[in-house]
Amino acid sequence: MKTLILRGKKAMRKNFRNKSINDTFIKEANCSAVVVGASLSGLMTGIALSRAGLKVTILERAGAKPRSGAVLQVDSGEIDRTKTAKFLRKLASGGIRSAEAWSSIQFRLRTEAEADSRIDLRYDKRVQIVNQDENSAWVVTDKGETFHGDILIGADGHRSIVRRYVSPHKPNATFAGYLIWVAIVDEKDIPEKHRPSLNAPKFTMPDGIGDFLLGSIIAGADGSTALGDRRLGWAWYDNTQNDLLRRLGCVEGDVVQYSLHAPDIPEQTLIELAEKASDRWAQPWLDAILHSIQTRNLIGTPIAEYVPENLVKGRIAIVGDAAHLPTPLTASGFNASLQDASTLAECVAKGIQGTGASEALLEYESFRLKNARQIVQSGQSFSQSFGR
Ligand SMILES: Cc1cc2nc3c(=O)[nH]c(=O)nc-3n(C[C@H](O)[C@H](O)[C@H](O)COP(=O)(O)OP(=O)(O)OC[C@H]3O[C@@H](n4cnc5c(N)ncnc54)[C@H](O)[C@@H]3O)c2cc1C
Repeated sequence: MKTLILRGKKAMRKNFRNKSINDTFIKEANCSAVVVGASLSGLMTGIALSRAGLKVTILERAGAKPRSGAVLQVDSGEIDRTKTAKFLRKLASGGIRSAEAWSSIQFRLRTEAEADSRIDLRYDKRVQIVNQDENSAWVVTDKGETFHGDILIGADGHRSIVRRYVSPHKPNATFAGYLIWVAIVDEKDIPEKHRPSLNAPKFTMPDGIGDFLLGSIIAGADGSTALGDRRLGWAWYDNTQNDLLRRLGCVEGDVVQYSLHAPDIPEQTLIELAEKASDRWAQPWLDAILHSIQTRNLIGTPIAEYVPENLVKGRIAIVGDAAHLPTPLTASGFNASLQDASTLAECVAKGIQGTGASEALLEYESFRLKNARQIVQSGQSFSQSFGR
């Protein structure tokens, strides 16, 4: 039945090659979408849907204050070459860079979304209820406000409330048995003699007695790549903190509840981490890690994984980490989120009136589900051997 509803994969692929969103722009500008979550995936989805002609409301539970995050590799994995994908990649990466601070990517996407008159970006809106009927889909926030759209997209991350609606038989991502300590350090904060040379590799994975460390060198916050102006991002995979994570409530049962933020990390844990770092890691990563520990500028993210069985229910779909959650070692979450956004926009651009809404979303699912499952599964053998 599903194949009958879909408009033909071959024809669609041909469409993708020959037509851009601008050619297939939805004529009725009163079609609308609600997107839950204004992190990277939600912003990219909102921008892509707006370019497809929809009015978009993006709802984010956090406040408008800028947040920080890890270093991301923005150009890894299979590259989607549609016009929208190219646009989003250029926007997110700032042109040429392959590694970027989460905060820089988020800033560019947010600036674009805020400048777009078809996008209404709202902060401090925590979605609690998700529902739909034959005419629309809607959410209700914790303050009782209701937002309707022709379609509703969940870009609300690893503990997605929209996923619970779309996939009630498989609502939760599963704890993978380890965490990643992450931080970004200004190069000027480590001794000059340990700063990497200008031609040092941008990514490195030094040996470390059974643990994994990913080091990356990125431009400074002002974009400068001069010696002393750059930043060092590090991500240390650690499978020895599971008892602590459970004791502090970061992990309950098999479900990750939240990350371990710097103020909550016990002093003794930091002391042990600094000792372990001194045994394991060479410069400049050792100095970068010790500086992060001394200044409590690090975060412990318990890693969860989610292999989706479906991405859509009626007028409601999931994208990004809500839809597929791979271990960060795959470096594929961002790229997959970008492909979700551009594919979704291409599918809805042909029209979402009446039953067109659920047909377009089913088409999106038919293009993305296999890839979404594969990227998560590609990291699971690592998690099974490293996680505890
Ligand atoms: C340490 C680390 C390193 C990584 N490295 C890479 C890499 O090198 N390459 C790569 O491609 N990917 C990487 N990733 C993955 C990548 O960061 C994500 O896949 C990508 O950012 C997409 O995330 P997202 O927007 O879907 O989810 P999130 O960033 O989790 O955003 C979800 C948003 O939804 C909001 N929200 C949640 N619930 C609600 C609600 N009820 N109501 C309203 N708003 C809500 C949240 O506040 C949040 O803003 C890494 C991830 C981590 C943790």
